[in-house]
Amino acid sequence: MKLKEIPYKRPDVDQIIGTINALKTEFEKAESAAVQLEIFKKYEEARGHYDTYSCLSNIRNSMDSFDPFYIAEQEFYDTVSPRVTQAVNSFNEAVLGSRFKAELKEVLGSYYFDCMEMQQKTFSEDIMDLMAEENRLCTEYEQLYASAIVDFDGRKINLSQLAAYMQNPDREIRKAAVLADAKFFEDNREKFDIIYDKLVKNRDLQAKKLGFDNYMQVAYLKRKRAYSPEDVANFRQQILDVIVPKNVEYKKAQAEAIGVEDFRFYDDDFAFPDGNPKPKYSPDEILKLCKQMFGEMSAETKELIDLMYDNELFDIAPRNGKRAAGYCVTIHDYGYPFIFFNANGTQGDIKTLTHECGHALAAYTTQKEIEYSSIRHAAMEACETHSMSMEFLSSPWHHLFFEEDAAKYSEHLAKSALYFIPYGIIVDYFQELVYTHPEWTPDERNAAWLELENTYIPYNNFEGLPFYSRGGRWQKKIHIYAMPFYYIDYSVAQTLALQFFSMYLTDEKSAWEKYMKFVKAGGKMNLFETIDACGMTSVFRDGALAEICKPVFEWIDNLKK
Ligand SMILES: [Zn+2]
Repeated sequence: MKLKEIPYKRPDVDQIIGTINALKTEFEKAESAAVQLEIFKKYEEARGHYDTYSCLSNIRNSMDSFDPFYIAEQEFYDTVSPRVTQAVNSFNEAVLGSRFKAELKEVLGSYYFDCMEMQQKTFSEDIMDLMAEENRLCTEYEQLYASAIVDFDGRKINLSQLAAYMQNPDREIRKAAVLADAKFFEDNREKFDIIYDKLVKNRDLQAKKLGFDNYMQVAYLKRKRAYSPEDVANFRQQILDVIVPKNVEYKKAQAEAIGVEDFRFYDDDFAFPDGNPKPKYSPDEILKLCKQMFGEMSAETKELIDLMYDNELFDIAPRNGKRAAGYCVTIHDYGYPFIFFNANGTQGDIKTLTHECGHALAAYTTQKEIEYSSIRHAAMEACETHSMSMEFLSSPWHHLFFEEDAAKYSEHLAKSALYFIPYGIIVDYFQELVYTHPEWTPDERNAAWLELENTYIPYNNFEGLPFYSRGGRWQKKIHIYAMPFYYIDYSVAQTLALQFFSMYLTDEKSAWEKYMKFVKAGGKMNLFETIDACGMTSVFRDGALAEICKPVFEWIDNLKK
């Protein structure tokens, strides 16, 4: 069935919660692990059913943020989701307290139990109203963001389309595009500040009601991090030592190559004097080429792409009113992955497409390999490794999209990974500072952001750009509002993706095999166990980042020769 034909109806939440509660009672009375596992499956079905409709509503709302029907549906889910979380948590309590816990662990793995324990600590009935309000504030931010339609170049366009102009060979156009984008945030400055202020205070209060000092502690548990703030501090230092100086060097070379002496922020995305590589085709044609790429890559990818292509499980063409996001989700009852983003005609389209295809492959593969849906989903860092590695492992097919510019794209991909890691870390660092200083004013938050940017991205020069000069850039980052602390995951994952890239450079076949092993682990084990099982290197070890980056630096240096 095609995505657009899937019928939507608002789920009967009382009934679903009733079912989950009844299953809990049955579970507690069950006389064996085998019976408990059968009940566990029924619980997964009930929960999956709710997820299916909430996911469909979210997809359709993101495809057209102005459609009043799905705006109302999103309001409905914002309000009821804490009640569903409560029922899920209560069921999980029974699983954690099972008499047959050891046998259940044999089947479900201990990682699942660790996650549930962490989850339990982040929920209480006392915070349900705050959770519902938090949901509404996130939706408000997303609606405000999606309302951004800018007059530019004689057209009314959204911010994704506008971003394409930031790579224009004409410097004045690049600058005008950066300013037009910033203007939307300047014009709505107060609204963005108010929403964030409410979110910080809301989350801080949730933390206090749960018995924590601050929301950062809650976030570590919610994000199920298998590492500590000390590990993160170590990673930050390695980034400063290893990557930042190299990035400064690359940017200096970029400034020379494009012929600007006073390198500014609006030059940042323009890397090649004869123009950045661009896909040569329209969104529809890109999807056809994606079908060819995945068809040729492996049996697993072929099966997936046929399913996605035949059922139209993509929405990548830009439209006004489309949410400014890129994502891949799975529609549980149908087993369908769905890929969403706004193609804007730049190299980023292929990066995003291959990225989201990596997520889709992981979702589809674990669905087939792992019986219980609750343990299919890997740790977020591992999930982003699936996607970020696919950006590199799809290299043999990049020429389909870029033709003679494929080599330029490879260079861009490796360098953008190195530019990204420090950026990813400041999105995390910023939130650490904000949530340990919930009393901060908007100006204090901006100042903290700016200082981090100056430290980790020292080549950025914001002269002539008031929005950026005052440290407002973080307001463009959806995750900071709607998915707190979801970002270091990308920086960690990027270091793993760079390892897959290095493997690919020496042996394509074994890189793919190892990648599939990594993907198939799903949520059966935690991040570090998966890293170990695949013989890879964790970045939370002194000196790890230098080892990981060495072959990549060498590969980039060799491009010059
Ligand atoms: Zn991703």
